[in-house]
Amino acid sequence: MKHLRRCVDLASEALDDGDEPFGSILVDGTGKVIFEDRNRVKGGDHTRHPELTIALWAVANMSPVARAEATVYTSGEHCPMCAAAHAWVGLGRIVYAVSGAQLTEWLTEWEVPPSPVASLPINAVAPDVLVEGPVRIFEDEMKSLHATCFKPRGVAE
Ligand SMILES: [Zn+2]
Repeated sequence: MKHLRRCVDLASEALDDGDEPFGSILVDGTGKVIFEDRNRVKGGDHTRHPELTIALWAVANMSPVARAEATVYTSGEHCPMCAAAHAWVGLGRIVYAVSGAQLTEWLTEWEVPPSPVASLPINAVAPDVLVEGPVRIFEDEMKSLHATCFKPRGVAE
């Protein structure tokens, strides 16, 4: 719970800095936080997702065994790009606060144009990854962060 709390705080920090509200942390097999990042797409590179950054950091800095024992906590479920990267580098469990399906539902509700990448559950992309989420207590807060970021003015609540 404390790890997800940190992810939501990172998402909020990203939003405050003009990026999209997503934050993620990497926790090793002993429970220690070893890396954290948040969304950094405002410069125009829409692959700058924290979950992808974590996968690239993990493969450069951790053994295959350590990667398999690690857990990625994240404010929003991995997109297909990040789920694929996670699986390709052999990282372990994923715990997310809100699901891709929830985000898609909110974006549809706010009439936001669809993204160029389909929303798929992590296990549709990476079937062997152990996944836990969503965690209800973060739902309202994450919805509010996403509304600030994505909801066009004039769309009713
Ligand atoms: Zn992603």
